[in-house]
Amino acid sequence: MAIREGRWDCPSCETKGLLGRDRECNQCGAPRPEGVRFYLPKDAVEVEDPEQIAVAKAGADWICEYCGASNRTTQTQCVECGAPRSQVTQAVRDYRLDEVPRSGDRRSSQPISVSSPSVSPVQSSLSARKLGAIGICLAIVIGIGIFLFQPIAMDATVSSLSWERTVKIEKLTTVTESDWSVPTGGRTLSQQEEIRRYEQVLDRYETRTRNVSERVQVGTETYVCGTRDLGNGFFEDKTCTRAVYETRSRTETYEEPIYRDEPVYDTKYTYEIDEWLPNREELAAGEGKSARWPEFTLGTDEREAKRTEKYQARFLGERGKIYTLKLDENIWDELEIGESRKLKVNRLGSASLNSDP
Ligand SMILES: [Zn+2]
Ligand SMILES: [Zn+2]
Repeated sequence: MAIREGRWDCPSCETKGLLGRDRECNQCGAPRPEGVRFYLPKDAVEVEDPEQIAVAKAGADWICEYCGASNRTTQTQCVECGAPRSQVTQAVRDYRLDEVPRSGDRRSSQPISVSSPSVSPVQSSLSARKLGAIGICLAIVIGIGIFLFQPIAMDATVSSLSWERTVKIEKLTTVTESDWSVPTGGRTLSQQEEIRRYEQVLDRYETRTRNVSERVQVGTETYVCGTRDLGNGFFEDKTCTRAVYETRSRTETYEEPIYRDEPVYDTKYTYEIDEWLPNREELAAGEGKSARWPEFTLGTDEREAKRTEKYQARFLGERGKIYTLKLDENIWDELEIGESRKLKVNRLGSASLNSDP
Protein backbone atom coordinates (compact mmCIF):
# COMPACT_ATOMS: atom_id res chain seq x y z
CA MET A 1 0.00 0.00 0.00
CA ALA A 2 1.16 3.36 -0.88
CA ILE A 3 2.65 5.45 1.95
CA ARG A 4 2.37 9.27 1.76
CA GLU A 5 3.87 11.89 4.02
CA GLY A 6 1.44 14.12 5.87
CA ARG A 7 1.82 17.67 7.20
CA TRP A 8 1.10 19.43 10.48
CA ASP A 9 0.84 23.01 11.72
CA CYS A 10 2.78 24.20 14.77
CA PRO A 11 0.30 25.38 17.43
CA SER A 12 3.01 27.38 19.24
CA CYS A 13 4.16 29.70 16.41
CA GLU A 14 1.47 28.90 13.80
CA THR A 15 3.96 27.80 11.13
CA LYS A 16 1.96 25.90 8.50
CA GLY A 17 2.81 22.78 6.50
CA LEU A 18 5.58 21.24 8.60
CA LEU A 19 6.69 17.86 7.20
CA GLY A 20 5.16 14.78 8.78
CA ARG A 21 8.61 13.35 9.54
CA ASP A 22 9.56 16.41 11.68
CA ARG A 23 8.98 15.82 15.38
CA GLU A 24 9.64 19.42 16.32
CA CYS A 25 8.86 22.76 14.74
CA ASN A 26 11.69 23.92 12.46
CA GLN A 27 10.83 27.54 13.30
CA CYS A 28 10.36 27.68 17.09
CA GLY A 29 11.68 24.28 18.15
CA ALA A 30 8.49 23.32 20.04
CA PRO A 31 7.91 19.51 20.11
CA ARG A 32 5.09 18.12 17.96
CA PRO A 33 2.37 17.88 20.64
CA GLU A 34 0.08 15.00 21.53
CA GLY A 35 -3.15 15.00 19.51
CA VAL A 36 -1.69 17.15 16.70
CA ARG A 37 -3.83 17.12 13.60
CA PHE A 38 -1.98 15.44 10.74
CA TYR A 39 -3.33 16.21 7.29
CA LEU A 40 -2.65 14.93 3.80
CA PRO A 41 -2.47 17.51 0.97
CA LYS A 42 -4.22 16.35 -2.21
CA ASP A 43 -0.98 16.29 -4.21
CA ALA A 44 1.05 14.30 -1.61
CA VAL A 45 3.28 11.89 -3.58
CA GLU A 46 4.05 8.30 -2.64
CA VAL A 47 7.10 7.85 -0.38
CA GLU A 48 9.86 5.86 -2.16
CA ASP A 49 12.67 6.03 0.44
CA PRO A 50 12.83 2.59 2.21
CA GLU A 51 14.02 4.23 5.44
CA GLN A 52 10.96 6.52 5.59
CA ILE A 53 8.66 3.62 4.69
CA ALA A 54 10.11 1.60 7.58
CA VAL A 55 9.49 4.53 9.98
CA ALA A 56 5.90 4.86 8.69
CA LYS A 57 5.16 1.18 9.12
CA ALA A 58 6.76 0.83 12.56
CA GLY A 59 3.83 2.34 14.45
CA ALA A 60 2.56 5.50 16.12
CA ASP A 61 4.94 7.94 17.88
CA TRP A 62 4.89 8.29 21.68
CA ILE A 63 5.06 11.45 23.77
CA CYS A 64 7.51 11.82 26.70
CA GLU A 65 5.61 12.35 29.96
CA TYR A 66 8.45 14.43 31.41
CA CYS A 67 9.57 16.78 28.64
CA GLY A 68 6.79 16.44 26.03
CA ALA A 69 9.16 15.39 23.23
CA SER A 70 7.81 13.26 20.39
CA ASN A 71 9.58 9.88 19.99
CA ARG A 72 9.51 7.11 17.36
CA THR A 73 7.90 3.86 18.47
CA THR A 74 11.26 2.09 18.08
CA GLN A 75 12.85 4.36 20.74
CA THR A 76 12.68 2.94 24.26
CA GLN A 77 13.96 6.15 25.93
CA CYS A 78 13.15 9.80 25.28
CA VAL A 79 15.64 11.30 22.80
CA GLU A 80 15.56 14.61 24.72
CA CYS A 81 15.66 13.67 28.42
CA GLY A 82 16.24 9.90 28.51
CA ALA A 83 13.02 9.17 30.41
CA PRO A 84 11.54 5.71 29.82
CA ARG A 85 8.97 5.14 27.14
CA SER A 86 5.41 6.25 28.11
CA GLN A 87 2.00 4.88 27.12
CA VAL A 88 0.90 8.20 25.54
CA THR A 89 0.89 7.75 21.74
CA GLN A 90 -0.47 9.66 18.78
CA ALA A 91 -3.84 8.32 17.63
CA VAL A 92 -4.13 6.02 14.61
CA ARG A 93 -7.21 6.96 12.61
CA ASP A 94 -9.04 5.62 9.55
CA TYR A 95 -10.68 8.07 7.12
CA ARG A 96 -13.01 7.49 4.23
CA LEU A 97 -11.87 9.19 0.98
CA ASP A 98 -14.33 12.04 1.45
CA GLU A 99 -13.28 12.80 5.03
CA VAL A 100 -9.46 12.87 4.67
CA PRO A 101 -8.21 16.12 6.30
CA ARG A 102 -6.58 18.25 3.59
CA SER A 103 -5.44 21.19 5.70
CA GLY A 104 -4.47 22.02 9.26
CA ASP A 105 -6.94 22.52 12.05
CA ARG A 106 -7.52 26.26 11.80
CA ARG A 107 -10.83 26.40 13.57
CA SER A 108 -9.44 28.56 16.38
CA SER A 109 -8.03 31.21 14.01
CA GLN A 110 -11.03 31.16 11.68
CA PRO A 111 -14.10 32.42 13.51
CA ILE A 112 -17.32 31.37 11.84
CA SER A 113 -18.80 34.54 10.41
CA VAL A 114 -22.46 34.93 11.21
CA SER A 115 -24.28 36.90 8.58
CA SER A 116 -27.98 37.46 8.79
CA PRO A 117 -29.80 37.60 5.46
CA SER A 118 -31.25 41.01 4.83
CA VAL A 119 -33.21 42.45 1.96
CA SER A 120 -31.47 45.49 0.56
CA PRO A 121 -33.61 48.65 0.32
CA VAL A 122 -33.04 48.80 -3.48
CA GLN A 123 -34.50 45.32 -3.95
CA SER A 124 -37.58 45.92 -1.81
CA SER A 125 -38.41 49.19 -3.54
CA LEU A 126 -38.06 47.42 -6.91
CA SER A 127 -40.54 44.70 -5.97
CA ALA A 128 -42.89 47.33 -4.56
CA ARG A 129 -42.74 49.16 -7.91
CA LYS A 130 -43.47 45.90 -9.76
CA LEU A 131 -46.46 45.20 -7.50
CA GLY A 132 -47.68 48.74 -8.16
CA ALA A 133 -47.57 48.22 -11.94
CA ILE A 134 -49.53 44.95 -11.64
CA GLY A 135 -52.11 46.74 -9.51
CA ILE A 136 -52.55 49.52 -12.10
CA CYS A 137 -52.99 46.96 -14.94
CA LEU A 138 -55.58 45.09 -12.87
CA ALA A 139 -57.46 48.31 -12.14
CA ILE A 140 -57.51 49.19 -15.88
CA VAL A 141 -58.86 45.73 -16.82
CA ILE A 142 -61.56 45.92 -14.14
CA GLY A 143 -62.36 49.48 -15.24
CA ILE A 144 -62.83 48.44 -18.89
CA GLY A 145 -65.03 45.53 -17.74
CA ILE A 146 -67.25 47.84 -15.69
CA PHE A 147 -67.39 50.35 -18.56
CA LEU A 148 -68.53 47.66 -21.06
CA PHE A 149 -70.92 45.68 -18.89
CA GLN A 150 -72.42 48.27 -16.59
CA PRO A 151 -75.98 48.83 -17.76
CA ILE A 152 -77.26 52.34 -18.33
CA ALA A 153 -80.93 53.21 -18.12
CA MET A 154 -82.45 54.36 -21.42
CA ASP A 155 -85.90 55.57 -22.39
CA ALA A 156 -87.45 53.55 -25.22
CA THR A 157 -90.80 53.28 -26.91
CA VAL A 158 -92.58 49.98 -27.62
CA SER A 159 -92.72 49.97 -31.44
CA SER A 160 -94.06 46.49 -32.17
CA LEU A 161 -95.12 43.25 -30.47
CA SER A 162 -94.99 39.81 -32.07
CA TRP A 163 -95.71 36.23 -31.06
CA GLU A 164 -95.19 32.71 -32.33
CA ARG A 165 -96.82 29.46 -31.10
CA THR A 166 -95.95 25.98 -32.35
CA VAL A 167 -97.46 22.52 -31.83
CA LYS A 168 -95.45 19.46 -32.76
CA ILE A 169 -97.45 16.45 -33.95
CA GLU A 170 -96.29 12.83 -33.98
CA LYS A 171 -97.64 9.91 -35.99
CA LEU A 172 -97.68 6.26 -35.02
CA THR A 173 -95.54 4.72 -37.74
CA THR A 174 -94.62 1.11 -38.45
CA VAL A 175 -90.86 0.73 -38.84
CA THR A 176 -88.73 -2.31 -39.60
CA GLU A 177 -85.71 -2.95 -37.40
CA SER A 178 -83.40 -5.82 -36.59
CA ASP A 179 -81.72 -6.85 -33.35
CA TRP A 180 -80.58 -9.87 -31.28
CA SER A 181 -83.93 -9.84 -29.45
CA VAL A 182 -87.42 -8.58 -30.24
CA PRO A 183 -88.66 -5.76 -27.94
CA THR A 184 -92.15 -5.74 -26.44
CA GLY A 185 -94.66 -4.91 -29.18
CA GLY A 186 -92.40 -6.07 -31.99
CA ARG A 187 -93.72 -8.48 -34.61
CA THR A 188 -91.09 -10.90 -35.93
CA LEU A 189 -90.81 -10.94 -39.73
CA SER A 190 -87.80 -13.25 -40.13
CA GLN A 191 -84.80 -14.62 -38.27
CA GLN A 192 -81.39 -15.93 -39.25
CA GLU A 193 -78.02 -16.98 -37.77
CA GLU A 194 -75.35 -14.30 -37.95
CA ILE A 195 -71.90 -13.74 -36.48
CA ARG A 196 -72.43 -11.76 -33.28
CA ARG A 197 -68.81 -11.54 -32.07
CA TYR A 198 -65.42 -13.25 -32.24
CA GLU A 199 -63.68 -15.19 -29.51
CA GLN A 200 -59.92 -15.65 -29.23
CA VAL A 201 -59.12 -19.34 -29.15
CA LEU A 202 -55.68 -20.83 -28.51
CA ASP A 203 -54.63 -22.33 -31.81
CA ARG A 204 -51.04 -23.57 -31.27
CA TYR A 205 -47.66 -22.70 -29.81
CA GLU A 206 -44.73 -21.48 -31.88
CA THR A 207 -41.11 -21.79 -30.79
CA ARG A 208 -39.40 -18.41 -31.00
CA THR A 209 -36.15 -16.88 -29.82
CA ARG A 210 -35.40 -13.64 -28.02
CA ASN A 211 -32.35 -11.84 -26.67
CA VAL A 212 -32.11 -11.43 -22.91
CA SER A 213 -29.38 -9.51 -21.14
CA GLU A 214 -28.28 -10.17 -17.59
CA ARG A 215 -25.70 -8.75 -15.22
CA VAL A 216 -23.13 -11.35 -14.32
CA GLN A 217 -20.43 -11.02 -11.66
CA VAL A 218 -17.14 -11.69 -13.42
CA GLY A 219 -14.79 -11.06 -10.50
CA THR A 220 -13.70 -8.53 -7.89
CA GLU A 221 -11.43 -5.49 -7.94
CA THR A 222 -9.58 -3.61 -5.23
CA TYR A 223 -9.66 0.16 -5.10
CA VAL A 224 -8.46 2.93 -2.78
CA CYS A 225 -11.39 3.69 -0.50
CA GLY A 226 -9.72 5.74 2.22
CA THR A 227 -6.55 6.41 4.14
CA ARG A 228 -5.07 5.64 7.57
CA ASP A 229 -3.34 8.26 9.71
CA LEU A 230 -0.49 6.14 11.09
CA GLY A 231 0.09 8.49 14.06
CA ASN A 232 3.71 9.24 13.06
CA GLY A 233 3.30 11.85 10.31
CA PHE A 234 2.61 9.33 7.55
CA PHE A 235 -0.59 8.11 5.92
CA GLU A 236 -1.25 4.76 4.24
CA ASP A 237 -3.83 4.13 1.52
CA LYS A 238 -6.68 1.83 2.54
CA THR A 239 -8.13 -0.47 -0.07
CA CYS A 240 -11.49 -2.11 -0.35
CA THR A 241 -12.75 -4.75 -2.75
CA ARG A 242 -15.93 -4.75 -4.76
CA ALA A 243 -17.65 -7.00 -7.21
CA VAL A 244 -17.23 -6.36 -10.94
CA TYR A 245 -20.23 -6.98 -13.15
CA GLU A 246 -20.65 -7.37 -16.86
CA THR A 247 -23.79 -7.26 -18.92
CA ARG A 248 -24.04 -10.33 -21.08
CA SER A 249 -26.70 -11.09 -23.61
CA ARG A 250 -27.83 -14.52 -24.62
CA THR A 251 -30.47 -15.96 -26.86
CA GLU A 252 -33.26 -18.00 -25.32
CA THR A 253 -36.12 -19.89 -26.88
CA TYR A 254 -39.68 -19.71 -25.67
CA GLU A 255 -43.13 -20.91 -26.66
CA GLU A 256 -45.41 -18.19 -27.97
CA PRO A 257 -49.15 -18.91 -27.86
CA ILE A 258 -50.88 -18.16 -31.19
CA TYR A 259 -54.58 -17.34 -31.10
CA ARG A 260 -57.19 -17.30 -33.82
CA ASP A 261 -60.58 -15.56 -34.01
CA GLU A 262 -63.48 -17.97 -33.79
CA PRO A 263 -66.89 -16.55 -34.79
CA VAL A 264 -69.77 -16.89 -32.31
CA TYR A 265 -73.20 -17.13 -33.99
CA ASP A 266 -76.52 -15.94 -32.64
CA THR A 267 -80.08 -15.48 -33.89
CA LYS A 268 -80.82 -12.06 -35.37
CA TYR A 269 -84.43 -11.02 -35.70
CA THR A 270 -86.00 -8.70 -38.23
CA TYR A 271 -89.23 -7.29 -36.85
CA GLU A 272 -91.68 -4.47 -37.34
CA ILE A 273 -92.78 -2.22 -34.52
CA ASP A 274 -95.01 0.87 -34.15
CA GLU A 275 -93.25 4.02 -32.98
CA TRP A 276 -94.33 7.62 -32.43
CA LEU A 277 -92.24 9.69 -34.84
CA PRO A 278 -92.27 13.46 -35.51
CA ASN A 279 -94.71 14.03 -38.35
CA ARG A 280 -95.55 17.75 -38.71
CA GLU A 281 -95.53 21.15 -37.00
CA GLU A 282 -98.44 23.56 -36.83
CA LEU A 283 -97.43 27.22 -36.47
CA ALA A 284 -99.38 30.36 -35.67
CA ALA A 285 -97.59 33.74 -35.63
CA GLY A 286 -98.53 37.35 -35.83
CA GLU A 287 -98.08 40.98 -34.87
CA GLY A 288 -99.97 42.61 -32.03
CA LYS A 289 -101.26 41.03 -28.89
CA SER A 290 -103.85 38.53 -30.11
CA ALA A 291 -101.69 35.44 -29.52
CA ARG A 292 -103.47 32.17 -30.23
CA TRP A 293 -102.66 28.53 -30.75
CA PRO A 294 -102.76 27.15 -34.31
CA GLU A 295 -105.94 25.35 -35.31
CA PHE A 296 -105.47 21.77 -36.48
CA THR A 297 -107.17 18.39 -36.49
CA LEU A 298 -105.36 15.20 -35.54
CA GLY A 299 -105.42 12.55 -38.26
CA THR A 300 -105.60 8.80 -37.72
CA ASP A 301 -102.67 7.58 -35.58
CA GLU A 302 -101.61 11.15 -34.77
CA ARG A 303 -100.97 12.77 -31.38
CA GLU A 304 -99.88 16.15 -30.04
CA ALA A 305 -96.26 16.06 -28.80
CA LYS A 306 -94.98 19.45 -27.62
CA ARG A 307 -96.13 23.06 -27.52
CA THR A 308 -93.70 25.99 -27.65
CA GLU A 309 -94.33 29.74 -27.56
CA LYS A 310 -92.19 32.83 -28.20
CA TYR A 311 -92.98 36.47 -27.44
CA GLN A 312 -90.97 39.42 -28.72
CA ALA A 313 -91.14 43.17 -28.33
CA ARG A 314 -89.23 45.80 -30.34
CA PHE A 315 -88.21 49.04 -28.70
CA LEU A 316 -87.15 52.28 -30.37
CA GLY A 317 -84.42 53.74 -28.20
CA GLU A 318 -82.36 56.90 -28.18
CA ARG A 319 -80.70 57.99 -31.46
CA GLY A 320 -83.05 55.69 -33.41
CA LYS A 321 -81.54 52.45 -32.09
CA ILE A 322 -83.82 49.41 -32.22
CA TYR A 323 -83.71 46.71 -29.50
CA THR A 324 -85.54 43.38 -29.92
CA LEU A 325 -86.27 41.56 -26.64
CA LYS A 326 -87.56 38.04 -26.02
CA LEU A 327 -89.95 38.21 -23.07
CA ASP A 328 -92.08 36.00 -20.83
CA GLU A 329 -95.72 36.04 -21.84
CA ASN A 330 -96.98 37.86 -18.70
CA ILE A 331 -94.46 40.70 -19.11
CA TRP A 332 -95.04 40.89 -22.88
CA ASP A 333 -98.81 40.97 -22.28
CA GLU A 334 -98.55 44.14 -20.15
CA LEU A 335 -96.84 46.16 -22.90
CA GLU A 336 -98.77 48.54 -25.18
CA ILE A 337 -97.53 49.91 -28.52
CA GLY A 338 -96.42 53.52 -28.19
CA GLU A 339 -95.83 53.12 -24.45
CA SER A 340 -92.56 54.46 -23.00
CA ARG A 341 -90.46 52.07 -20.92
CA LYS A 342 -87.00 52.11 -19.39
CA LEU A 343 -84.40 49.68 -20.82
CA LYS A 344 -81.10 48.65 -19.24
CA VAL A 345 -78.54 48.77 -22.06
CA ASN A 346 -74.81 48.16 -21.86
CA ARG A 347 -72.08 49.27 -24.30
CA LEU A 348 -71.92 45.82 -25.91
CA GLY A 349 -75.50 46.33 -27.13
CA SER A 350 -77.34 43.84 -24.88
CA ALA A 351 -80.57 45.18 -23.44
CA SER A 352 -83.14 44.10 -20.88
CA LEU A 353 -86.40 45.54 -19.65
CA ASN A 354 -85.99 47.52 -16.44
CA SER A 355 -88.40 45.82 -14.07
CA ASP A 356 -88.76 48.96 -11.90
CA PRO A 357 -91.13 51.28 -13.74
ZN1 LIG B 1 6.82 26.51 15.96
ZN1 LIG C 1 11.73 13.57 27.50
